[in-house]
Amino acid sequence: MPSLSLLPLKVTGFYKGIHQYSGIIPPDPIEKALAIRQSYHQSRMVPHMERIRRLLKYAYFPLMFLGFNGVAIALVQAQVAYSSLWILMAVALFVSFTIEHLIPYNGLWNRAQADGLRDSLHFVINESSNYAGVLLLPLLGGLTLLPSAWPEEWPFWGQLLLAVVVFDIGSTLFHWLSHKSPLFWRFHAIHHAPKRLYGFNGIMKHPVFQLMDALVALGPLVLIGIPQDVAVVLVFSIFVQLLIQHSNADMRTGPLRHVFASAEVHRFHHLKGQAGDVNFGLFFSFWDFALGTAYFEKRNAPLRSTDIGIGHAPHYPTDYWGQLKAPFQYRQKTSIRNGKNVMGAGEP
Ligand SMILES: [Zn+2]
Repeated sequence: MPSLSLLPLKVTGFYKGIHQYSGIIPPDPIEKALAIRQSYHQSRMVPHMERIRRLLKYAYFPLMFLGFNGVAIALVQAQVAYSSLWILMAVALFVSFTIEHLIPYNGLWNRAQADGLRDSLHFVINESSNYAGVLLLPLLGGLTLLPSAWPEEWPFWGQLLLAVVVFDIGSTLFHWLSHKSPLFWRFHAIHHAPKRLYGFNGIMKHPVFQLMDALVALGPLVLIGIPQDVAVVLVFSIFVQLLIQHSNADMRTGPLRHVFASAEVHRFHHLKGQAGDVNFGLFFSFWDFALGTAYFEKRNAPLRSTDIGIGHAPHYPTDYWGQLKAPFQYRQKTSIRNGKNVMGAGEP
């Protein structure tokens, strides 16, 4: 009685033997069996991966929005050092970039466009300034005009939500104004320069614009005495929201897109020219409904690189230092922005 392990070999030999006179080389049964087994596993794996991808489309937004903000709240409430939020930011970036590759909205936008160094510099410099500003908050205590106005008795998440809403109103209005005013547009144009949308684009802001935005949107919160812990988590939430808004992940938020300004909504803001004067909100879409600038569209094909950018400035600088200098080098050229000639806009 041959051992079971020898059986396939003997069968193989016999099988080859009876066909050697026919001139036809039959498929090796073992190879065939392995191929069948492999295709069986692949057929099980493909739907499995498809299921994961489908799930990720719906899980991306709650995972990023609730998951990372929830962890940030827990860390600050547990009085863990603020520096831990930098680690959490790195994790959020890693998770978001990984999901972008698993469920890309536009596959080409996952390819770098020699923008890695520039975007990393924007990220490190802008986020460092944000956290430096928050760390200086205790020194700005004298600016608090209505210290008793802040509802310290509210649960932490409620205080954060209040801060987000106040910040969002100021930031959205200033964003809207920066598309109307040639002076402010000079400093905002950088944000519209990329030819692909991915997680890092959100933090692409000129430091002068960032400062003005902070004065307009964070100023009221300082005046009513926002606590430092809440301000730190607010800065983190803004970072996560900018990541969500510009992510290349093909996320689906369903009817929630009428409430939250995710990438599904914000991508249209990056359309060239007047078409991009929509969806200014950072966190919520309410303000765009109020401004009459809310725009929702279902497209069968994703936006392409040729659809986005600065229509009237095709040669806008693409390197970090060039972009820092750009607002100060704008020639007084006429622009077709908003359908009429405006001074100050145009390419540098
Ligand atoms: Zn804009």
